[in-house]
Amino acid sequence: MAEQTVSPMMQQYFEIKKQHPNEIVFYRVGDFYEMFYDDALTASRELELTLTGKNCGKEERAPMCGVPFHSYETYVARLIAKGYKVAICEQMEDPALAKGLVKRDIIRVVTPGTVIESSMLDEDKNNYLCSIYCKRRRGRWKAGVCFADISTGEARATELEAEKLGPAIITELCRFMPSEILICPGILDFKDVTAYIKQHTSALVELREDACYQDALVEATMAGQFGAGWRKAMGYEADCLVPYAVAALLNYLQETQKHGLERIKSVENYADAQYMRLSPVTRANLELTETMRGREKRGTLLWVLDKTETSMGKRLLRAWIEQPLVDADAINARLSAVQALYTANIARADLKEALSHVYDMERLTTRILYGSATPREVKALGDTCARLPQIREQAAACGAPLLEQLAQQIDPLQDLQERIENTLVDDPPATLKDGGAICSGYNSEVDELRDIMHGGKGYLASLESKLREETGIPKLKIGFNKVFGYYIEVSRSYTDSVPDTFTRKQTLTNGERYITPELKELENKILGANERLLALEHQLFAELLSDISAQIVRLQRTALAVAQLDVLAGFAEAALQNNYVMPEVDGSDRMEIKEGRHPVIEQMLKGSLFVPNDTLLDEGENRMLLITGPNMAGKSTYMRQNALIALMAQIGSFVPAASAHIGVVDAIFTRVGASDDLAAGQSTFMVEMTEVAEILRHASKDSLVILDEIGRGTSTFDGMSIARAVVEYICDNIGCKTLFATHYHELTGMEQDIYGVKNYNIAVKKRGEDITFLRRIVAGPADDSYGIEVAKLAGLPASVTKRAHAVLRQLEASAPDHNKPIQLDFETVEAYNNPPVPSEVVEKLHNVDIETLTPLEALNFLYELKNTLDKE
Ligand code: ADP
Ligand code: MG
Repeated sequence: MAEQTVSPMMQQYFEIKKQHPNEIVFYRVGDFYEMFYDDALTASRELELTLTGKNCGKEERAPMCGVPFHSYETYVARLIAKGYKVAICEQMEDPALAKGLVKRDIIRVVTPGTVIESSMLDEDKNNYLCSIYCKRRRGRWKAGVCFADISTGEARATELEAEKLGPAIITELCRFMPSEILICPGILDFKDVTAYIKQHTSALVELREDACYQDALVEATMAGQFGAGWRKAMGYEADCLVPYAVAALLNYLQETQKHGLERIKSVENYADAQYMRLSPVTRANLELTETMRGREKRGTLLWVLDKTETSMGKRLLRAWIEQPLVDADAINARLSAVQALYTANIARADLKEALSHVYDMERLTTRILYGSATPREVKALGDTCARLPQIREQAAACGAPLLEQLAQQIDPLQDLQERIENTLVDDPPATLKDGGAICSGYNSEVDELRDIMHGGKGYLASLESKLREETGIPKLKIGFNKVFGYYIEVSRSYTDSVPDTFTRKQTLTNGERYITPELKELENKILGANERLLALEHQLFAELLSDISAQIVRLQRTALAVAQLDVLAGFAEAALQNNYVMPEVDGSDRMEIKEGRHPVIEQMLKGSLFVPNDTLLDEGENRMLLITGPNMAGKSTYMRQNALIALMAQIGSFVPAASAHIGVVDAIFTRVGASDDLAAGQSTFMVEMTEVAEILRHASKDSLVILDEIGRGTSTFDGMSIARAVVEYICDNIGCKTLFATHYHELTGMEQDIYGVKNYNIAVKKRGEDITFLRRIVAGPADDSYGIEVAKLAGLPASVTKRAHAVLRQLEASAPDHNKPIQLDFETVEAYNNPPVPSEVVEKLHNVDIETLTPLEALNFLYELKNTLDKE
């Protein structure tokens, strides 16, 4: 490209673009951000903007599109969401004052993991930037991983060491769900990790070069950020990989942000073993924070438990749900805090009232640091500080050790509150554009300038009367015109009385016009007041922001304590509203629940009541509950409810039960229902078996395992054999608490053969051909599978269910053992020698893949069968 021939501005653009070839450059020109060439083509396509051209000195105009600067956030947000990065190029000087070409520079690169604008962030979700570094040491793979949320200043890191490093990394990614991931080249060899990121996240991946992880660079970066003694202060061993990951993350921030670095004040080291292990599949199955279908919040545990008042609380609650504790003492500290808040009705109400006025301190702090906070937002921070003493007091008044500790951690920030209150007006404008943010009495020049602007006329009038008095000229007037500005007009008859200090400016037919130094000064003041006032307000506001920024550490600590109080008070509120009890949590092997309920389904059942059920599980005689019962009886619900109750207890929440004793579980594993993994191209059976294999490999004695109808994806005998072998393996080799639901009746015989297996079933009442679900779990095996009755309940036409009964009777008659219940599945139908069913129906049945049918499709399919039957 012949860049010499282009216009100076385009030349400047090319210089800047050269440094950011992979980002879309938003190039500020006056009131617009403009994009050129390929960037313009991309942006106009993605944002549906009109593509135009710009004269650039060359014959061909440069393709161009633009967005107004005041609404750029939404456009940037959309590009980020589509996986692009945007470099913001600003005018670095006032175009009106610039001599020649306006100076421009990239002030920030916006990427999914470095967003700070509230319009681009979910208020109730953290936005994590992740950095992973891995290395082989003495034949073993290790990895350092760091997750940082620039918008809140939180940073956490840990070192992973595992025989299979891939799954360990994936588990961490699942915990934090980062929106952007920085990886070292070594990670590319972990195909499971790269496949996971590609298929299961929408995170942007940045490959960092090996040079980013050089020892010298890491040392310099860490020392620069955390001080020379960082290694000792932060407790990293010499061969720990965490600093590499942290340093790479900091360097990336340095490259892309101007201020992001200062926000990271410390890194919290967390150990994997501090939290309950939850595989990605289990998180999804238990619908902790989003539903399987629809991926919504409504219908999840988060939805039921969210009684928080603040955004900070909402984010922390989500984090707690994603990371249940395993230390009984830590859990009990939370539970006693909830208990105290639960009992202290008045203090809790006051606390929640105060919290409801608390703004998002964490994210406000970041925007203040970036200098992008508005006067209104800063005022909100001040108002929030004003609530802190009350929050402190109410928390301490409830009288639980954890609450007292949190109260201690809340800094009332009175100095900041006063600083803000003394600086800003009571109701500041949404932007500083037109001024009006600094309150009167804060700065004498501001007051004077405002006086002049608003009282300019008064000044003139008083100057006028003063001059009349001094000169004795009664008709002396002060006037204004565009050419001379302000002047003093004296009529011809009095020109002799004019003092020497007056300078003549203009002669009129019947008088003279003069100016004086005093009048000139006043004129300058009046005319320059507005401009000066705006500049001064900007300066004072910037000083305020930097004063607040200096207190980040105090703000951060306070924000975290407030967030915890909010979550705990929310637990107490949820407990009251939903009738939960405090669980007894200890290190025992027992899980004993009286009248347990499913926290989500009981909320979803409008009008009808949820039927509570008891549970007794341990690591001995009652280690495996084998649950049988017809479809729709409530097996899946019962098993999930037990998992959720254990999980709720371990995040410190009360639980939906009459009483609950939970021995801490170190992990929950689930294999539940049809998985959505079909999209990934694996057959259901393969997915199921991979998941079961995973469970058998990773479950420990203290884990809770839920197996829902395993072996369903293959033929009956294969399925039953696998199910039985799995049960034997778990009982004999792992010994963990397990809930196992199956519709294979034949498996109920295991109770006699295997130690620890107990038969249960979910009772149904049969009357003639109709059944009623009782939803009660009772000891012993189910007596029938009631498949046809359930089908009838589901609305299958009577002629079809009647026919099904007939087929079943024939099958039973031809079976060698009459008493043994027979599964009516499609294989046995096929086995039937002389099928009375018309051939086309059989054909259709052969071809259908039941596992992939939705209930609606299944119903439609039945109608289709019926129609075919009627036709033939
Ligand atoms: P299964 O796994 O045995 O086929 P599910 O657990 O899926 O049955 O339960 C089917 C439906 O029955 C649930 O969606 C729920 O609406 C209802 N249900 C289950 N258990 C209960 C209960 N204890 N009380 C009330 N309704 C229940
Ligand atoms: Mg089920």
